[in-house]
Amino acid sequence: MNNPHLDQAPAGARLTIDLGAIADNWRQLDRMAGAAECAAVVKADAYGLGIEEVVPALWKAGCKTFFVALSAEGIRVRKAAPDAIIYILAGYFSDSLDVFRHYALRPVINMEFEAWIKACRDDHLAYAVQLETGMNRLGIPIAEYAELQASGVLDDYQPALLMSHLACADTPGHALNALQQQRFQGAVENHPCDCTSLANSAGIFLGADYHYDLVRPGIALYGGACTGGHLADNPMRPVIRLEARVLQLKAVKPGETIGYGGAESVRPSPHSGSNERLVATLAAGYADGFLRSGSSSDQRRGGSAAWRGTRIPLIGRVSMDLINVDLTDHPDVAQLQDGQWYDEWIELIGPTVPLDDVAQAAGTIGYEILTSLGNRYQRTYINGL
Ligand SMILES: *Cc1c(COP(=O)(O)O)cnc(C)c1O
Repeated sequence: MNNPHLDQAPAGARLTIDLGAIADNWRQLDRMAGAAECAAVVKADAYGLGIEEVVPALWKAGCKTFFVALSAEGIRVRKAAPDAIIYILAGYFSDSLDVFRHYALRPVINMEFEAWIKACRDDHLAYAVQLETGMNRLGIPIAEYAELQASGVLDDYQPALLMSHLACADTPGHALNALQQQRFQGAVENHPCDCTSLANSAGIFLGADYHYDLVRPGIALYGGACTGGHLADNPMRPVIRLEARVLQLKAVKPGETIGYGGAESVRPSPHSGSNERLVATLAAGYADGFLRSGSSSDQRRGGSAAWRGTRIPLIGRVSMDLINVDLTDHPDVAQLQDGQWYDEWIELIGPTVPLDDVAQAAGTIGYEILTSLGNRYQRTYINGL
């Protein structure tokens, strides 16, 4: 039965990931960070784009330090970049100490210091400390850290990295940014550490006061918006292109509705004067991470796709494996009707419909779109090593 060639059946949609653009984005952030080291956050499979491919590309660009959420991800980074420094943001679990030792992973400690120190001081395994400065997520309150330092238990076993995380960096005017920076600055002055770190992607754009010794960008590497400004001003290079095949093209008459729930009805086009709508059905859906919340209906304008660099609206609900788009007003539509439309691909995310536009239309953020990308796509990596 097995046939290696035929078993790779063509997919309904293809995802192209530009490793050269990721490397360029890292270089741009590294320049912006000035004297600070530029690390890379590659948690959640490098924001859905693939640790095994993204980490070597970043390592080759010059990145030496990586952050992931969990030790299982850290093992994959270790295999992709044997000499890297790897921090695990969730810290260690009591049943994972051997993994940290074997793969030389560094936990970011938020609590339970004593257990880690007892287990690892003699081996001199490095670790980071995360301070609570206003995010109120993971982190040890600065006063508790001061007590720990005063108690002397850390005296011969200081952290390799002292860090905190900004809650509102993507809103540059938010008062919490300056407050967190002041709190972190105070802690760093009272408890000097060889390496200090505060900024995620958006934090890098807040200026040199936020850079410290090391910056930790994630989303900006992958082309996501992080400056809080207008989406069109995103200075990062786009990284992904997602395209779906056209499965069917048909004219739908006024009075008919499109898709589940009959949620969107066909109305004459004010632009082309056409009474019918030319609807293309594409081979991707919410099972592929193209979120259903981007659907279009009579009540709500949904997201867009694009063909040949011109945007076309989604029409009706996004279903599990299918999306309908409205080609009626596309300037090249006559060519499509005459041509081999079944060989055409429609852009869902890419140069014409940027990641953050797709996210906005679905009521979410680029991070969630990237980390939701499914595993049914034909994945191609370009501009790699
Ligand atoms: C995810 C994360 C980052 C990266 O954030 P971006 O906004 O993607 O740049 C940095 N630091 C910590 C602690 C994180 O959890």
